[in-house]
Amino acid sequence: MYKILATSALSVLPTAAVLMALGINCGRANVGDQDIQESQEPEAAVPATGSADLTLTILFDNYAHTPGLQTGWGFSCLVRGTEKTVLFDTGADGRILLANMRKLKLDPGQVDTVVLSHVHWDHVGGLPEFLDANSHVTVYLPRSFPEDFITEVERSGAQVVKVDQPVEVCRNVYTTGEMGTAIIEQSLVIETQQGLVVITGCAHPGIVNIARRAHELRQKPLYLVLGGFHLKDYSASEIEQVIRELKQLQVRVAAPSHCSGNLARSLFQESFGEHYMAVGVGKTIVIEDAFAHRANG
Ligand SMILES: [Zn+2]
Ligand SMILES: [Zn+2]
Repeated sequence: MYKILATSALSVLPTAAVLMALGINCGRANVGDQDIQESQEPEAAVPATGSADLTLTILFDNYAHTPGLQTGWGFSCLVRGTEKTVLFDTGADGRILLANMRKLKLDPGQVDTVVLSHVHWDHVGGLPEFLDANSHVTVYLPRSFPEDFITEVERSGAQVVKVDQPVEVCRNVYTTGEMGTAIIEQSLVIETQQGLVVITGCAHPGIVNIARRAHELRQKPLYLVLGGFHLKDYSASEIEQVIRELKQLQVRVAAPSHCSGNLARSLFQESFGEHYMAVGVGKTIVIEDAFAHRANG
Protein backbone atom coordinates (compact mmCIF):
# COMPACT_ATOMS: atom_id res chain seq x y z
CA MET A 1 0.00 0.00 0.00
CA TYR A 2 1.02 3.63 -0.26
CA LYS A 3 1.77 6.08 2.47
CA ILE A 4 1.26 9.75 2.24
CA LEU A 5 3.81 12.07 3.71
CA ALA A 6 3.39 15.72 4.38
CA THR A 7 5.91 18.44 4.99
CA SER A 8 4.76 21.20 7.27
CA ALA A 9 5.81 24.62 8.54
CA LEU A 10 7.32 25.82 5.28
CA SER A 11 7.42 29.49 4.53
CA VAL A 12 6.14 30.93 1.28
CA LEU A 13 8.63 32.21 -1.28
CA PRO A 14 7.68 35.11 -3.54
CA THR A 15 6.09 33.89 -6.73
CA ALA A 16 7.79 35.09 -9.87
CA ALA A 17 7.73 33.37 -13.19
CA VAL A 18 9.70 33.80 -16.36
CA LEU A 19 8.11 31.29 -18.63
CA MET A 20 9.92 29.65 -21.46
CA ALA A 21 8.94 31.54 -24.58
CA LEU A 22 7.58 28.56 -26.43
CA GLY A 23 4.20 30.23 -26.52
CA ILE A 24 2.32 26.96 -26.28
CA ASN A 25 0.81 25.23 -23.34
CA CYS A 26 -1.73 22.68 -22.34
CA GLY A 27 -4.54 25.19 -22.07
CA ARG A 28 -4.66 26.99 -18.80
CA ALA A 29 -7.66 26.20 -16.68
CA ASN A 30 -9.81 28.66 -14.77
CA VAL A 31 -8.09 30.73 -12.14
CA GLY A 32 -10.15 28.76 -9.66
CA ASP A 33 -8.04 25.73 -10.53
CA GLN A 34 -5.04 27.36 -8.94
CA ASP A 35 -3.96 27.59 -5.37
CA ILE A 36 -6.51 25.17 -4.06
CA GLN A 37 -5.54 24.28 -0.55
CA GLU A 38 -6.20 20.71 0.32
CA SER A 39 -6.35 19.42 3.83
CA GLN A 40 -3.12 18.08 5.27
CA GLU A 41 -2.72 14.34 5.29
CA PRO A 42 -1.51 12.80 8.53
CA GLU A 43 2.24 12.67 8.77
CA ALA A 44 4.05 9.39 8.39
CA ALA A 45 7.65 8.33 8.85
CA VAL A 46 10.10 8.72 5.99
CA PRO A 47 11.29 5.27 4.95
CA ALA A 48 14.89 4.27 5.57
CA THR A 49 17.14 5.09 2.63
CA GLY A 50 18.26 2.20 0.51
CA SER A 51 15.04 0.30 0.95
CA ALA A 52 13.16 -1.09 -2.00
CA ASP A 53 10.36 1.42 -1.67
CA LEU A 54 9.29 3.61 -4.55
CA THR A 55 8.93 7.29 -3.63
CA LEU A 56 7.12 9.80 -5.83
CA THR A 57 7.16 13.50 -4.96
CA ILE A 58 5.19 16.16 -6.82
CA LEU A 59 7.57 19.09 -7.29
CA PHE A 60 5.43 21.31 -9.49
CA ASP A 61 1.67 21.49 -9.84
CA ASN A 62 -1.11 24.05 -10.05
CA TYR A 63 -2.80 22.18 -7.22
CA ALA A 64 -1.47 22.95 -3.77
CA HIS A 65 -0.81 20.31 -1.16
CA THR A 66 2.05 21.14 1.17
CA PRO A 67 1.86 24.62 2.70
CA GLY A 68 4.82 26.84 1.85
CA LEU A 69 5.51 25.37 -1.57
CA GLN A 70 4.78 27.41 -4.68
CA THR A 71 2.12 26.40 -7.14
CA GLY A 72 2.27 27.16 -10.83
CA TRP A 73 0.57 25.93 -13.97
CA GLY A 74 2.37 22.74 -14.97
CA PHE A 75 3.61 19.45 -13.62
CA SER A 76 6.76 17.78 -12.37
CA CYS A 77 7.28 14.60 -10.37
CA LEU A 78 10.45 13.16 -8.84
CA VAL A 79 10.86 9.38 -8.84
CA ARG A 80 13.20 7.85 -6.24
CA GLY A 81 13.97 4.31 -5.14
CA THR A 82 14.54 3.14 -8.67
CA GLU A 83 17.97 2.36 -10.14
CA LYS A 84 18.14 5.93 -11.43
CA THR A 85 16.53 8.95 -9.80
CA VAL A 86 14.18 10.30 -12.44
CA LEU A 87 12.74 13.80 -12.82
CA PHE A 88 9.58 13.53 -14.90
CA ASP A 89 8.80 16.94 -16.45
CA THR A 90 10.02 20.23 -15.01
CA GLY A 91 6.95 22.48 -14.68
CA ALA A 92 6.77 25.92 -16.26
CA ASP A 93 9.35 27.74 -14.17
CA GLY A 94 12.73 26.45 -13.03
CA ARG A 95 12.94 28.92 -10.19
CA ILE A 96 9.76 27.56 -8.66
CA LEU A 97 10.89 23.99 -9.33
CA LEU A 98 14.26 24.50 -7.64
CA ALA A 99 12.75 26.52 -4.77
CA ASN A 100 10.26 23.72 -4.10
CA MET A 101 13.08 21.16 -4.21
CA ARG A 102 15.07 23.21 -1.69
CA LYS A 103 12.07 23.42 0.65
CA LEU A 104 11.61 19.67 0.38
CA LYS A 105 15.37 19.17 0.99
CA LEU A 106 15.75 17.45 -2.36
CA ASP A 107 19.07 17.96 -4.15
CA PRO A 108 18.86 18.54 -7.93
CA GLY A 109 22.32 16.95 -8.10
CA GLN A 110 20.82 13.59 -7.16
CA VAL A 111 18.78 13.43 -10.36
CA ASP A 112 20.29 11.05 -12.93
CA THR A 113 17.65 11.14 -15.62
CA VAL A 114 15.08 13.63 -16.89
CA VAL A 115 12.09 12.41 -18.86
CA LEU A 116 10.08 15.06 -20.70
CA SER A 117 6.52 14.18 -21.63
CA HIS A 118 5.83 16.78 -24.32
CA VAL A 119 7.07 20.13 -25.51
CA HIS A 120 4.45 22.38 -23.87
CA TRP A 121 6.08 25.07 -21.73
CA ASP A 122 4.29 24.03 -18.56
CA HIS A 123 6.25 20.74 -18.72
CA VAL A 124 9.61 21.79 -20.15
CA GLY A 125 9.83 25.45 -19.04
CA GLY A 126 11.79 24.57 -15.90
CA LEU A 127 14.44 22.60 -17.79
CA PRO A 128 17.02 25.35 -18.50
CA GLU A 129 17.29 26.32 -14.82
CA PHE A 130 17.32 22.70 -13.77
CA LEU A 131 20.19 22.01 -16.19
CA ASP A 132 22.03 25.03 -14.78
CA ALA A 133 21.84 23.28 -11.42
CA ASN A 134 22.66 19.80 -12.76
CA SER A 135 23.59 19.06 -16.35
CA HIS A 136 25.04 15.63 -15.55
CA VAL A 137 21.81 13.98 -16.60
CA THR A 138 20.39 12.03 -19.50
CA VAL A 139 17.29 13.67 -20.95
CA TYR A 140 14.74 11.38 -22.61
CA LEU A 141 12.53 13.41 -24.89
CA PRO A 142 10.14 12.61 -27.73
CA ARG A 143 12.02 12.38 -31.03
CA SER A 144 9.55 14.86 -32.52
CA PHE A 145 10.80 17.72 -30.30
CA PRO A 146 12.03 20.79 -32.24
CA GLU A 147 15.65 20.46 -33.29
CA ASP A 148 16.64 23.77 -31.68
CA PHE A 149 15.22 22.60 -28.34
CA ILE A 150 17.32 19.43 -28.55
CA THR A 151 20.41 21.45 -29.50
CA GLU A 152 19.91 23.67 -26.45
CA VAL A 153 19.72 20.65 -24.16
CA GLU A 154 22.88 19.16 -25.69
CA ARG A 155 24.68 22.50 -25.35
CA SER A 156 24.16 22.31 -21.58
CA GLY A 157 26.28 19.16 -21.52
CA ALA A 158 23.37 16.80 -20.87
CA GLN A 159 23.03 13.59 -22.84
CA VAL A 160 19.94 13.37 -25.00
CA VAL A 161 17.99 10.22 -25.85
CA LYS A 162 15.37 10.74 -28.53
CA VAL A 163 12.44 8.43 -27.93
CA ASP A 164 9.97 7.18 -30.48
CA GLN A 165 9.27 3.56 -29.50
CA PRO A 166 8.76 2.38 -25.91
CA VAL A 167 12.15 2.26 -24.17
CA GLU A 168 13.63 1.17 -20.84
CA VAL A 169 15.01 4.17 -18.95
CA CYS A 170 16.53 2.02 -16.20
CA ARG A 171 15.58 -1.17 -14.38
CA ASN A 172 11.76 -1.22 -13.87
CA VAL A 173 11.29 2.19 -15.52
CA TYR A 174 10.00 2.64 -19.07
CA THR A 175 8.49 5.28 -21.28
CA THR A 176 5.45 4.51 -23.40
CA GLY A 177 7.23 5.94 -26.44
CA GLU A 178 5.64 8.67 -28.52
CA MET A 179 1.85 8.59 -28.55
CA GLY A 180 -0.79 10.81 -30.12
CA THR A 181 -1.06 12.67 -33.38
CA ALA A 182 -1.69 16.39 -32.88
CA ILE A 183 0.31 16.67 -29.67
CA ILE A 184 2.96 13.98 -29.30
CA GLU A 185 3.55 12.84 -25.73
CA GLN A 186 5.26 10.08 -23.79
CA SER A 187 4.38 8.86 -20.30
CA LEU A 188 6.41 7.11 -17.63
CA VAL A 189 5.72 3.51 -16.57
CA ILE A 190 7.25 2.02 -13.42
CA GLU A 191 6.93 -1.69 -12.81
CA THR A 192 6.44 -2.49 -9.12
CA GLN A 193 5.46 -5.63 -7.28
CA GLN A 194 2.04 -4.05 -6.72
CA GLY A 195 1.58 -3.41 -10.44
CA LEU A 196 2.32 -0.61 -12.85
CA VAL A 197 2.63 3.01 -11.85
CA VAL A 198 1.84 5.31 -14.78
CA ILE A 199 2.81 9.00 -14.60
CA THR A 200 1.41 11.36 -17.23
CA GLY A 201 2.25 14.95 -18.09
CA CYS A 202 -0.94 16.13 -19.75
CA ALA A 203 -2.28 12.91 -21.25
CA HIS A 204 -3.01 14.63 -24.57
CA PRO A 205 -3.13 11.22 -26.33
CA GLY A 206 -5.91 10.24 -23.88
CA ILE A 207 -5.51 8.90 -20.36
CA VAL A 208 -7.28 5.65 -21.27
CA ASN A 209 -5.02 5.11 -24.30
CA ILE A 210 -1.96 5.73 -22.15
CA ALA A 211 -3.09 3.33 -19.42
CA ARG A 212 -3.84 0.72 -22.07
CA ARG A 213 -0.44 1.21 -23.71
CA ALA A 214 1.29 0.78 -20.33
CA HIS A 215 -0.60 -2.44 -19.68
CA GLU A 216 0.17 -3.80 -23.15
CA LEU A 217 3.80 -2.86 -22.72
CA ARG A 218 4.46 -4.68 -19.44
CA GLN A 219 1.50 -7.08 -19.15
CA LYS A 220 0.98 -6.22 -15.48
CA PRO A 221 -2.04 -4.85 -13.61
CA LEU A 222 -2.31 -1.08 -13.37
CA TYR A 223 -1.74 -0.04 -9.78
CA LEU A 224 -1.56 3.77 -9.84
CA VAL A 225 -2.22 6.34 -12.56
CA LEU A 226 -0.93 9.79 -11.58
CA GLY A 227 -0.58 13.20 -13.22
CA GLY A 228 -2.41 15.38 -15.70
CA PHE A 229 -5.42 13.58 -17.20
CA HIS A 230 -6.42 16.55 -19.38
CA LEU A 231 -10.13 16.33 -18.59
CA LYS A 232 -10.64 19.96 -17.61
CA ASP A 233 -12.90 20.71 -20.59
CA TYR A 234 -14.82 17.43 -20.41
CA SER A 235 -18.46 17.14 -19.36
CA ALA A 236 -19.47 15.00 -16.40
CA SER A 237 -20.75 12.23 -18.69
CA GLU A 238 -17.51 12.25 -20.70
CA ILE A 239 -15.46 12.04 -17.51
CA GLU A 240 -17.65 9.21 -16.24
CA GLN A 241 -16.97 7.32 -19.46
CA VAL A 242 -13.20 7.77 -18.91
CA ILE A 243 -13.60 6.50 -15.33
CA ARG A 244 -15.53 3.45 -16.57
CA GLU A 245 -12.81 2.64 -19.09
CA LEU A 246 -10.02 3.05 -16.53
CA LYS A 247 -11.93 0.74 -14.21
CA GLN A 248 -12.33 -1.79 -17.02
CA LEU A 249 -8.54 -1.63 -17.29
CA GLN A 250 -8.54 -2.34 -13.53
CA VAL A 251 -6.70 0.80 -12.49
CA ARG A 252 -6.54 0.51 -8.71
CA VAL A 253 -5.56 3.99 -7.55
CA ALA A 254 -6.23 7.23 -9.44
CA ALA A 255 -4.42 10.50 -8.73
CA PRO A 256 -5.57 13.11 -11.27
CA SER A 257 -3.83 16.47 -11.01
CA HIS A 258 -2.56 19.41 -13.12
CA CYS A 259 -4.91 19.68 -16.15
CA SER A 260 -7.45 17.11 -14.91
CA GLY A 261 -9.84 19.81 -13.70
CA ASN A 262 -11.88 20.13 -10.52
CA LEU A 263 -14.92 18.33 -11.91
CA ALA A 264 -12.84 15.29 -12.88
CA ARG A 265 -11.12 15.29 -9.51
CA SER A 266 -14.43 15.23 -7.68
CA LEU A 267 -15.92 12.56 -9.94
CA PHE A 268 -12.81 10.38 -9.60
CA GLN A 269 -12.98 10.85 -5.85
CA GLU A 270 -16.62 9.77 -5.82
CA SER A 271 -15.93 6.76 -7.97
CA PHE A 272 -12.57 5.55 -6.63
CA GLY A 273 -13.36 6.32 -2.99
CA GLU A 274 -10.43 5.36 -0.79
CA HIS A 275 -8.46 4.57 -3.94
CA TYR A 276 -8.63 8.20 -5.05
CA MET A 277 -5.58 10.27 -4.15
CA ALA A 278 -5.72 14.07 -3.99
CA VAL A 279 -2.29 15.16 -5.12
CA GLY A 280 -0.68 18.57 -5.43
CA VAL A 281 2.72 20.15 -5.05
CA GLY A 282 4.73 18.58 -2.23
CA LYS A 283 2.68 15.41 -2.07
CA THR A 284 4.90 12.40 -1.49
CA ILE A 285 3.66 8.91 -2.20
CA VAL A 286 5.61 5.94 -0.89
CA ILE A 287 4.90 2.52 -2.30
CA GLU A 288 6.50 0.15 0.14
CA ASP A 289 8.42 -2.91 -1.02
CA ALA A 290 7.84 -1.90 -4.61
CA PHE A 291 10.89 -3.77 -5.81
CA ALA A 292 12.07 -7.26 -4.95
CA HIS A 293 15.68 -6.19 -4.61
CA ARG A 294 17.27 -3.00 -3.45
CA ALA A 295 17.35 -0.80 -6.51
CA ASN A 296 20.45 1.13 -5.48
CA GLY A 297 22.47 -1.82 -4.21
ZN1 LIG B 1 0.23 19.93 -22.77
ZN1 LIG C 1 0.21 20.59 -19.04
